[in-house]
Amino acid sequence: MGVRSWFAGWPVYRQLTGTDPLGRGAAAKSDGSRALTARTDTADSVARSVCPYCAVGCGQRVFVKDGQVSQIEGDPDSPISRGRLCPKGSASKSLVTSPLRQTTVRYRRPYSTEWEDLDLDTAMNMIADRVLAARDETWEDVDAEGRPLNRTLGISSLGGATLDNEENYLIKKLFTAMGALQIENQARI
Ligand code: SF4
Repeated sequence: MGVRSWFAGWPVYRQLTGTDPLGRGAAAKSDGSRALTARTDTADSVARSVCPYCAVGCGQRVFVKDGQVSQIEGDPDSPISRGRLCPKGSASKSLVTSPLRQTTVRYRRPYSTEWEDLDLDTAMNMIADRVLAARDETWEDVDAEGRPLNRTLGISSLGGATLDNEENYLIKKLFTAMGALQIENQARI
């Protein structure tokens, strides 16, 4: 191998002498990366979506191959994010494809050290029982001077940023109807 061709295999040489002076394209490619094909090139279809992780609502393109999500990228047409995703949004493929994803209700009984699976109907009934009991025990009709309160301080809601506007609207409506005052969302905190 001559000195010139040895240098030609060196990324810095290619960066300084080629058409990629910033070293963010062809100059930085190895033989291995040159031989790769992007999953976005081999997808059967592409769906438009919105990143579910926070209230910014960055646009996403969801690439599908053989009926499975094969890649998720930023959507260049989104006026909000213009093709960009933060590291969390860039990793959202795992949200739908990770084998570690929880697909059942997990419950740890009081004082237990073990988690167990519950079916959804059982879990929903347990939640409803606890909400009703907390509301009954903490309901306040009036204050010390007889002024109407019609509230409970025994129930509160703290939502995560993956909740969207519509979900937050319904949560606020439900909890206010139950008499709760403390209704918050991580996106606002
Ligand atoms: S988590 Fe990141 S990518 Fe997703 S909407 Fe928020 S800022 Fe955008």
